[in-house]
Amino acid sequence: MKLLLAEDDPILADALSTQLGDAGYEVEHAPNGPVADYLLHRQAFDIAVLDVGLPMMDGLAVLRHVRQTQPALPVLLLSARDALDDRVAGLQAGADDYVTKPFDLPELLARLQALLRRTQPQPATLQLRGLELDADRRRATVAGEALELSGREWTLLELLLSQREKVVSKEQIAQAWSGDGSEGGTGNTIEVYIHRLRRKLEGAGLAIRTVRGLGYLLEEADGA
Ligand code: CA
Repeated sequence: MKLLLAEDDPILADALSTQLGDAGYEVEHAPNGPVADYLLHRQAFDIAVLDVGLPMMDGLAVLRHVRQTQPALPVLLLSARDALDDRVAGLQAGADDYVTKPFDLPELLARLQALLRRTQPQPATLQLRGLELDADRRRATVAGEALELSGREWTLLELLLSQREKVVSKEQIAQAWSGDGSEGGTGNTIEVYIHRLRRKLEGAGLAIRTVRGLGYLLEEADGA
């Protein structure tokens, strides 16, 4: 996921770039409005985080300009001010979400995740071998048989299936859980849920492989 971060405070920008990078985003940083505007029009981003108080061209002006050509780009505004009219102006300019400084990183990550989920609809049905997930009806089946899944199990399986054949990190899983409203899980909790899913997926011709130190991968099982 490619993310534009427009933030003029160098300390905050550095910290955010590092932390967003750790969370799996490919971050481009713009220290002022014109650079943000330039990058947004010359590179393809999946999401943008714009500080409202940017030098030379403020975040609202950058947002209004990018909206003319990219109406669907998810944009989250950051503002030091907690004024209601700022928030209203931001939403009127086309922001999808708004976070007031100071904020906690987990909150920002959860909001970004929720935004991406909202603006990048998954295909209604995800399918691999015998497993089928119908996102609209929130129904999972293995070889046509309904699979009983808790909310967390659903989120985990949907994430693994949408990223099939790619490694999903524990951080991504914890983020997906916090994005859907359930508390982020610790490593141990994740292992418990992976174990449960493996049992539930028996007979689907699939395997959830543990990639040591990296995470988990859903793939077609050999010989199935
Ligand atoms: Ca600023």
